[in-house]
Amino acid sequence: MIRIGIGYDLHRLEVKRKFILAGIEIPYPKGEEGHSDGDVLAHAVCDALLGASALGDIGELFPPSSLKWKGADSMKLLQDVYSRVKQSGWKLVNLDCVIVCEKPKILPYREVIRQSLADVLEVTIERVFIKGKTSEGLGPIGKGKAIEVFAQCLLES
Ligand code: MG
Repeated sequence: MIRIGIGYDLHRLEVKRKFILAGIEIPYPKGEEGHSDGDVLAHAVCDALLGASALGDIGELFPPSSLKWKGADSMKLLQDVYSRVKQSGWKLVNLDCVIVCEKPKILPYREVIRQSLADVLEVTIERVFIKGKTSEGLGPIGKGKAIEVFAQCLLES
């Protein structure tokens, strides 16, 4: 059997926060606000995997009301999510993501981010793709106030 899943997340961008995508820190004066480390890409991928396997959602599994997840490394959360997915008999076929932010440019970091996701999801890099898009200066994302990610995955059992 195969199943498709979709995940979405948005975080505000604030000063004195690290800009982190899939555990990779990108030099930039602002970063994602959040209860955890704010890794918006890791969060969207968690929700895509959880959606495809019908195992819940990230807010349910790791509630922001819990002090346990304050400053959490979101790639550890993704590792936890993927082990639940595997325990349910699923494995990843492929993952595709769109990262929307005005700055910084994602392309120079694309391969290292893909590899970081592939490592946690135990697949080769060609099964994982990401691309950066801008919002053409429009709305809160275009003004550099936020970043959003759309993630889509296919699982097979
Ligand atoms: Mg989030």
